[in-house]
Amino acid sequence: MYGKGTCPELLTNGHEKGYQGAMKKYDIIIVPDPVLKQVAQPVNRVDDDLRAQMDAMLQTMYDAPGIGLAANQVGLLNRVLVMDLSVREEKEARNPIHMVNPEIIWESDDISVMEEGCLSIPGQFAEVQRPAIVRVKYLDYQGQPAELQAEGLLSHCVQHEIDHLNGVLFVDYLSKLKRNMLLRKVEKMRRGSESL
Ligand code: ZN
Repeated sequence: MYGKGTCPELLTNGHEKGYQGAMKKYDIIIVPDPVLKQVAQPVNRVDDDLRAQMDAMLQTMYDAPGIGLAANQVGLLNRVLVMDLSVREEKEARNPIHMVNPEIIWESDDISVMEEGCLSIPGQFAEVQRPAIVRVKYLDYQGQPAELQAEGLLSHCVQHEIDHLNGVLFVDYLSKLKRNMLLRKVEKMRRGSESL
């Protein structure tokens, strides 16, 4: 996910050919790829291979730029997500959060409405209603059990990313009419860039 208006030039990133950065990174998968509708499987062990995946996902997210990325979005179907809200503040030191097997263990009755965007649905934004505060249980980068209570943008972000792991996109919360409109715009944009 990326925050409102933080990423006006998404299509110039993420899919550039010939990228040779210092760190491995992935291509971000875009709708309507079926992997985005699939349910990711729980991770058995947090090992160096999984940490390498998390590093590469984070690099992919920073380069996009985005504030959250789930494994489905890079074509991997394990329950892993990364987030970093500091991406929005250019000078702030990076503050990444890695989550393995994240699970919402509590959510508030209070509701929050915020405009969301998604790296897999480039250039499109819509207001989404979600529980305002959630508590999430997960394994961290080292495989240690951890909990996070999130509110505001972080709450929207973590719920958005966990949705990805369940094959759910933010447009699934919209009316069919609005959803199809946004998806058609992405399709049009894609065709436009292919014909260049
Ligand atoms: Zn997303």
